[in-house]
Amino acid sequence: MNYDAIAIGAGLSGCSAAIQLAKLGYRVLLLEQGNYPMHKLCGEFLSIEVTAAFENLGIWERVLKVGAHPIHRAYLTTSGGASFRSSLPSTALGLSRYQLDLILFQRAQDLNVTCLDNTKVTNVTGNLEAGFQVHTNKGNFSGRLVLGAFGKRSSLDRILDRPFSQKRSPWIAYKGHFTGVDIKDAIELHSFPNGYCGLSQIETGEINVCWIAHERVMKEPTHQDLGIPTSLAQNPVLADRFRQMERVSPSLQGLSQISFAIKENFYRDICMIGDTAGMITPLCGDGMAMALRSAEIAVPLVARFLEHQLTAIAFKHSYEKAWEKEFQTRLQLGRIMHHCFVRPSLAHTGVNLCQMLPNLGNWLIGATRGKPQPI
Ligand SMILES: Cc1cc2nc3c(=O)[nH]c(=O)nc-3n(C[C@H](O)[C@H](O)[C@H](O)COP(=O)(O)OP(=O)(O)OC[C@H]3O[C@@H](n4cnc5c(N)ncnc54)[C@H](O)[C@@H]3O)c2cc1C
Repeated sequence: MNYDAIAIGAGLSGCSAAIQLAKLGYRVLLLEQGNYPMHKLCGEFLSIEVTAAFENLGIWERVLKVGAHPIHRAYLTTSGGASFRSSLPSTALGLSRYQLDLILFQRAQDLNVTCLDNTKVTNVTGNLEAGFQVHTNKGNFSGRLVLGAFGKRSSLDRILDRPFSQKRSPWIAYKGHFTGVDIKDAIELHSFPNGYCGLSQIETGEINVCWIAHERVMKEPTHQDLGIPTSLAQNPVLADRFRQMERVSPSLQGLSQISFAIKENFYRDICMIGDTAGMITPLCGDGMAMALRSAEIAVPLVARFLEHQLTAIAFKHSYEKAWEKEFQTRLQLGRIMHHCFVRPSLAHTGVNLCQMLPNLGNWLIGATRGKPQPI
């Protein structure tokens, strides 16, 4: 079968694009290397903009039904003892990726998207003029257009020879679900030398604990009592949290080589969405909202291309321009904030400044977010 569109990767961006295109009547194939349901490495904090996206995708009711946890406040601390508490501009949500990605995947299935998990894409050939062949471990598929939604770093980046994949990145992240502390309706961000750790509650009542750190932190000896690298224990609030918490996940999920490098949002005629086009630093807690938004930007242009209302060149040009307008500034601000938050003296000064000038802190929280979209 020749599909109108093939989305590679069934995370937030791939599922969202597939659902939207299916609603417009297109034949869509969604390919995922993993096997749903599955846990994914993520802070699992959903900022407010997702509400409209979830409504438009038809999953809002299910998100509420599974018990997404409302989050109203932010609490930032540093290893030097500075702290800042703020109300979030509007209610955010804590929801595990185990639930969220499954809800999205099932919604795509309900709309007759051909959804294949356990299917790893091994290469993509072709172009927008002649159409594409997508090669997988389950055979080859052809489509008029391909959406690259394969996340922050995939073996496919190397196969396609994307420039960023040649460069090493020193950032490593870990995630697990814990019990034992009650952080109520807050998202906590605790900075430590060369990294930071987020805590927020999810629908099960468990606490998502997710930290990102420079690889040198992972080479440190483990703190004797807490079982974490010693740098994390240098933040007194974070050390205290670990003293009280117990891990529920059988093991921590880890991921290395997390890159915040500038990427191409169109490459080899593949329209890249979500983290595949560019990733905001986890500190901003907005990557999922951005992934959904990038699919919303791409889909109307995809439809116009499929209807021969846009040439291949006009399609690429329009998407690149729209993507940069929406995300460029936020990505840059996110990189600066990440750079500051992993350096103890800068983090300390920054958090103290936010404490003295709460409007600055509130502005920073708002500036890394998109504007809520109409439902
Ligand atoms: C440490 C950390 C913490 C974070 N915390 C938050 C947070 O709290 N809030 C937030 O909003 N964002 C957070 N993010 C960012 C967020 O996780 C991403 O921005 C979001 O998941 C991007 O969605 P996506 O659809 O682009 O990619 P993903 O959700 O990663 O989906 C990509 C999919 O593609 C699949 N895939 C990859 N290669 C192939 C292949 N060859 N063939 C088939 N399938 C393939 C993968 O298995 C995956 O399912 C965090 C990121 C990190 C690193």
